[in-house]
Amino acid sequence: TLTASPLQQLNEELYEYATKKQAEIDYLTQLEAFRREFLADVSHELKTPIFAAQGFIHTLIDGAVEDPEVRDKFLQKAAKSLEGLDHLVQDLITLSQMEAGIIKMHFQETNLNLILEEVFEQLEEKAIERNISLIIDERTSSECVIWADRNRIRQVLTNLVENGIKYGKEGGFVKVWLLQTKEHCVIEVEDNGTGIPKKHLTRIFERFYRVEKSRSKEKGGSGLGLAIVKQIIDAHEGSIEVESKVDKGSTFRVTLKRFPNQLSENIPTPQNE
Ligand code: ADP
Repeated sequence: TLTASPLQQLNEELYEYATKKQAEIDYLTQLEAFRREFLADVSHELKTPIFAAQGFIHTLIDGAVEDPEVRDKFLQKAAKSLEGLDHLVQDLITLSQMEAGIIKMHFQETNLNLILEEVFEQLEEKAIERNISLIIDERTSSECVIWADRNRIRQVLTNLVENGIKYGKEGGFVKVWLLQTKEHCVIEVEDNGTGIPKKHLTRIFERFYRVEKSRSKEKGGSGLGLAIVKQIIDAHEGSIEVESKVDKGSTFRVTLKRFPNQLSENIPTPQNE
């Protein structure tokens, strides 16, 4: 006979069922491994500044530091470690809240040119410390307006420009170009610093991913900056890409929908709110 026997049919169904279940198990195992790795990463990241601060404080308690100048230096170092810890915890909270969708975005009409000015002003001192010029590209459109959560977009620009300063060349520049096209506002943040080797480019948006662990830590990075940037851009239904050449520099390009002619159905707007 040509029809499959009931036993054969049952066998096939069972096989299909088992394959599906195995795929589910694989997925959950992967998720669990990821969770465990993340927890290990977080613990490690938290321990580093805590141990550092403890070290400085214990040395002071043990009275090993008689010289008031040295003592001040140790205190400052301890304070700096704790500051780093505070940043890290803040970043972790922001990231997990964004991922869980708990953070409510406050969308409003947002002028990127004004935000850029604020960001440059805020980072001026850091740039001067590294002798890096903050430049607005001369091609910048005079009014780049998007529908966005202003504070979050300010954070995106801050993180990108700050990275440009951190990984930039002493005496170099960080240049920002705001371009308004028919449908989008494009933000380009360019530096002429260390650059990023090609094989790392797809991974730098992952939490705690660093190209050079020690160098990036010494620069005070939490390793969460770009992960936060990516989350914020996603929440705005935008995109981010990066081009980089080792020892030449990097360019991060963010593309966001223009206001008011490019509104998304999924984001609350004056029209659909
Ligand atoms: P961090 O706090 O370590 O700076 P980020 O998430 O902001 O973390 O960046 C991840 C990694 O990507 C950094 O550690 C650094 O290795 C690399 N990176 C980011 N921006 C730049 C840049 N403009 N130039 C060179 N490397 C960069």
